[in-house]
Amino acid sequence: MPQTLATANSVVTVDLAKVKRNIERIRRHIGPEVAILYTAKSNGYGHGLIEPTLFMERECGIHHFATGMLCEAIQLREAGLRDFLLVLGGIPYDGVPEFVHWDLAATVYEDTIPKALSAEAVRQGKTVKVHLKIDTGLRRLGVRVGQPLTDLVNLVRSLPNLEIHGVYTHLANGYSLDKSFTHQQMGEFEQALAQLREMGIRPPLIHAANTAATVASPETYYDMVRLAALIFGYDISPGIPNRLGLEPSMEWSSFVTNVLWAEEGENVSYYRFFVPKRRTRVAILGFGMGDGYVRNLVTQDTAHNADVLIHGRRARLLDLNVDQAFADVTDIPDVKIGDRVILVGRDGDEEITTMELGERGGTSNGHVCCSITSRPFRHYING
Ligand SMILES: *Cc1c(COP(=O)(O)O)cnc(C)c1O
Repeated sequence: MPQTLATANSVVTVDLAKVKRNIERIRRHIGPEVAILYTAKSNGYGHGLIEPTLFMERECGIHHFATGMLCEAIQLREAGLRDFLLVLGGIPYDGVPEFVHWDLAATVYEDTIPKALSAEAVRQGKTVKVHLKIDTGLRRLGVRVGQPLTDLVNLVRSLPNLEIHGVYTHLANGYSLDKSFTHQQMGEFEQALAQLREMGIRPPLIHAANTAATVASPETYYDMVRLAALIFGYDISPGIPNRLGLEPSMEWSSFVTNVLWAEEGENVSYYRFFVPKRRTRVAILGFGMGDGYVRNLVTQDTAHNADVLIHGRRARLLDLNVDQAFADVTDIPDVKIGDRVILVGRDGDEEITTMELGERGGTSNGHVCCSITSRPFRHYING
């Protein structure tokens, strides 16, 4: 693993000042009454788990956090995160003692884990905050409205040392212009809230919105919005592009390790992956799929491949190996060993975003970001 900026072949630079400005713009959009919960999932979508999260707690006034998994929540607590921290995913049964020890809030939607949490909370003399998760149509985690919700609430209420602190749902279809499924889900969520009110339960935190809904559907806000992509500057909502004026906060860079001429009809890379149709200037680059560059961004039909930026110009990728990549620099003069290569980010007038790569690769912004492994050095700057 690279240890320093100087020794790394590729560097993911995260500009925390942009994160802070994005949060300010999101706050202006959602208004002062709605809290932001930062969802630190999958290594912070490639931006790193610890540093961005602690920065948001200490410098951006964010007081609510979540992770997808228990192991990530423990890492954040060990790094010093003190504020509210919700685990969104399923909790491993054997992890319950640690869960209680680290004062985490649990997503509850079935019987087994709340029973174990309650027994362990009694043992440790603690209270565990519980967020009831309602399945309104994603069909992943959650309890359905009606009798299943009534039964779950009765169970949780009967268990000592559990506190119903929140209720939430997750939207399936925020990335479509057609809001009808979202409205159907919100209708079910409203039914669940009414049911809870009838049972005398008014949890302090009601939440539903993710990135897409936060941009496009204010009716989903309630007390808090749960955000990952949006905070890092990826407005992946449908309709008007980037209407909040957010700034992608990640740059991913590498460098040229070799430059050569490949003649027409020659072999380039393994298995004659690229066979030049004209004499081609090929730059070899110091990153590969082992760094998490998504493989389907490179095909044998170069028309569909992603670009990188060299000298502020676009260079088409030709192939991707584990540690190295190939780019066509025939039309970029004077490319030489050591030159900077931008995989994601801006160079002069050109910019490559993770959203562009998601589209090029027939996948998503999230996939492109989450795929970046721990091998690229994470470099944090502030402005
Ligand atoms: C990932 C996730 C979010 C936030 O994701 P975005 O990328 O910001 O849309 C919110 N809630 C849950 C349950 C999630 O899994």
